[in-house]
Amino acid sequence: MKIHPISTGAVQITRSWVDAKDDGLRMVRTLSDSRFTEPLPVWCFVIEHPEGLILVDTGSTANAGPVLFPPWMPLLARAARIRLTPDEEIGPLMRARGLDPQDVRRVVMTHLHQDHDGGMRHFPKAEFVISRAEWLAASGTAGRMGGYMNFRWPGWLAPRLVDFETEPFGPFPASVPVTKAGDVRLVPTPGHSRGHCSVIIEEGDEAIMLAGDASYTQAMLLADGIDGVGDPAGERLAHRRIREFAAACPTVYCPTHEWDSERRLAAREAIPAVV
Ligand SMILES: [Zn+2]
Repeated sequence: MKIHPISTGAVQITRSWVDAKDDGLRMVRTLSDSRFTEPLPVWCFVIEHPEGLILVDTGSTANAGPVLFPPWMPLLARAARIRLTPDEEIGPLMRARGLDPQDVRRVVMTHLHQDHDGGMRHFPKAEFVISRAEWLAASGTAGRMGGYMNFRWPGWLAPRLVDFETEPFGPFPASVPVTKAGDVRLVPTPGHSRGHCSVIIEEGDEAIMLAGDASYTQAMLLADGIDGVGDPAGERLAHRRIREFAAACPTVYCPTHEWDSERRLAAREAIPAVV
């Protein structure tokens, strides 16, 4: 299956956001750290599936504008510098590669943070697939207070909300097939966000995991590093399940914010077998 990684601009976040210490000051350090990462990608993935194009995540938007609420939003905006021009949104970037956004049948969201939901408006005809837990966490005033930019979502957005209750898949307690063929599947990987999930594409005896922000890098997955915004216990459980899955089935690991995701995907380079 052909999979196109497409980065919508780049993002820089504080070093403490990427690689955090699990103590009471974690969030303070995430927001106040003066050291930043180099520009990191914001990958979206277009899957050319026989059932039609599937897009995983929609990247950032150039039309962010000032956000006045909640009061700590300026701190969040300072700690995550998102930079892109309108031409670097997912719609124009797809067209530049000869892929028509109108041909996207399904948009699967790993989660609803602002560097993943920014390009939703380019896909009015697609079915959006979102975990119900993430949708509930991100909606309404409570979602806004948590930093979700739900006021930006298109008015027509009526996603298919999925619950993870059936179809255990390897070490994952449940899964939801995205395609009729069952070869593209959503598994729950909560931790980074309440309803975070990851996409597993089966290719023969191997798999490709589009991991969203389950960990920011493959090295963090293997070292079980936690980030500066999620739930550490949840992240560690997700990491363990992903490593167990990869130990049983060679898996190419592609998180959203690692440049190497593109290279590993092209080379079909699997996660080293460590649990
Ligand atoms: Zn995120």
